[in-house]
Amino acid sequence: YQRIVLAARPRGAVAPENFRLETVPVPALADGEVLIRNHYLSLDPYMRGRMSKAASYAASQALDETMIGGTVGEVLASRDAFYQVGDFVNGMLGWAEMGVSDGVMLRKLDTTRIPLSAYLGVVGMPGMAAWYGFNQIMEAAAGETVVVSAASGAVGSVVGQLARLRGCRVVGIAGGPEKCDYVVNQLGFDACVDYKAGNLDADLAAATPDGVDAIFENVGGACLDASLARTNAFARIALCGLIAGYNGADMPIKNSRVLLINRLTIRGFIITEHMEYWQQGLQELAVLVANRQIKYRESVADGLAAAPEAFMGLLQGRNFGKQLVKLI
Ligand code: NDP
Repeated sequence: YQRIVLAARPRGAVAPENFRLETVPVPALADGEVLIRNHYLSLDPYMRGRMSKAASYAASQALDETMIGGTVGEVLASRDAFYQVGDFVNGMLGWAEMGVSDGVMLRKLDTTRIPLSAYLGVVGMPGMAAWYGFNQIMEAAAGETVVVSAASGAVGSVVGQLARLRGCRVVGIAGGPEKCDYVVNQLGFDACVDYKAGNLDADLAAATPDGVDAIFENVGGACLDASLARTNAFARIALCGLIAGYNGADMPIKNSRVLLINRLTIRGFIITEHMEYWQQGLQELAVLVANRQIKYRESVADGLAAAPEAFMGLLQGRNFGKQLVKLI
């Protein structure tokens, strides 16, 4: 089967030569192991951190090993009594057409009401990040104004819809008119500011006439600065990601004075450190998705060989919704 390994660590932007496509034999199963054919591979911004040696919120991964990543697929063979051939499962089998799991980090999936691919997005890790940041950090009440950056993406789209369901005024920040149009007209945000239009500060001010009570930050840099400048007293900031800086640039905050003057609370989090919430969070999200109260969108690249290009696109905003690679 085919797999993609980390061939070299990127210097600055990720490039095709950082990856290598290889063919490897299917291993024999030991007791307790399961052979899985991956249907979809998840591409996520954290993978950029793992490619580097430098400290990041995800541990560094070794060279010449399969690129790490979440997958959904079907059991092809099993020497674990809990898993039967044909079961659909979620695992961490990486950028590969197949893989062997010892059952750790493996989860059986019910695809009767929710499509398989959604378990990598809205009812998977990104959805959980949204759920946790919104419910455990932002503490946004009905009528309060919430800002979400990377609003059309896997995480941001869920945050904004949860905030709408609570009755908040929800303002997104996204790149380009097409994404902004989707965020307002499909996802139901009250407004969306196109940060690429060149007027971020003024446009965000116009979209937040009552100031900002809570921020869900996915981007950092100019997006975060613009949101901070609009905060009301005691606003809460869930710091989920700083994708504008994943290529290694420093990520200064423009004006720390606002943290003091507005008595802000800012809290970073890593969703895999809060497993105690996953069952509740995923259950709530699954109900909302099955009832069509939360919508989602996917960018699907075709075939394993397309993964590097799709990943580079994700880091430049070429994806529109959860970025996946379809393997079969
Ligand atoms: P998305 O689906 O949102 O895709 C990434 C988006 O980021 C792009 O589409 C693009 O949107 C935006 N983007 C990329 N580069 C830049 C840039 N230089 N400046 C501004 N925007 C940029 O990805 P996810 O929803 O999976 O992840 C969103 C964020 O959440 C990331 O920062 C990620 O690292 C973080 N995350 C953190 C977790 C945690 O546990 N802390 C868990 C999961 C995700 P646009 O075109 O609108 O600019």
